Amino acid sequence: MRRKLVAGNWKMNGSLEALAEVDGIAAAAKGANCDVALALPATLLLSAVERVGGSSVAIGAQDVHPAEKGAHTGCISAVMLKDAGASFTLVGHSERRADQGETDADVRAKAEAARRHGLAVILCVGETLAERDAGRAEAVVTGQLEGSLPEGAAAEWLSIAYEPVWAIGTGRTPTVADVAAMHGAIRAKLRELVGTEAEAMRLLYGGSVTGENAAELLDAGDVDGALVGGASLTAVKFVPIIEAPARLPVS
Ligand code: PEP
Repeated sequence: MRRKLVAGNWKMNGSLEALAEVDGIAAAAKGANCDVALALPATLLLSAVERVGGSSVAIGAQDVHPAEKGAHTGCISAVMLKDAGASFTLVGHSERRADQGETDADVRAKAEAARRHGLAVILCVGETLAERDAGRAEAVVTGQLEGSLPEGAAAEWLSIAYEPVWAIGTGRTPTVADVAAMHGAIRAKLRELVGTEAEAMRLLYGGSVTGENAAELLDAGDVDGALVGGASLTAVKFVPIIEAPARLPVS
């Protein structure tokens, strides 16, 4: 039985003032029937950890550099994230794959660096609309997984987020059947790559998740949680999503 994980991704949003939202999210997370996490901008990590660290919400980063330290202007290492109190990081978000040209090999190196320094990892994969329209969605996603899965991948510290690029921030979502089919394909690929460890690994869906659609998406086959962008920025929008698992039929 995999406990669901609902993670928010604030992207390049949020100020110290906005941390009041984290208080509201942490309060609701105490009674939630799922794990709750927030990937915050680096500028807010330390303050958020001081505010709610060690409570019902895991505080993490959105990216990590593969090296420990050195001449990498503007980058942040896993050691530095740990030092700020982060407990996890995202890697391979499609916005970074597109904007920063991150390859599967880069993503894999980032995940391995995070693991070496004790951070949990949410590894993102997902196809573009052109790839889906060309009937290549499953091949693209399982290919990304194969190329970016870190050495020693284990459910204890690694989750996979399936985020179709065309569903991110657009208000469009795949059908529940399409999500279940892709998550099934991801689980099957994981079985090939990591054997029985695949059964325990959490697979999150991401892309325009809201309080309205969360329950049906979270109830889909092989969906063990959600990665939420826009709707994670305020407690009023995020709390209904973290409350959704409690409303699901017990499986
Ligand atoms: C994301 O960027 O990870 C995401 C899922 O964004 P949104 O929920 O806004 O579509």
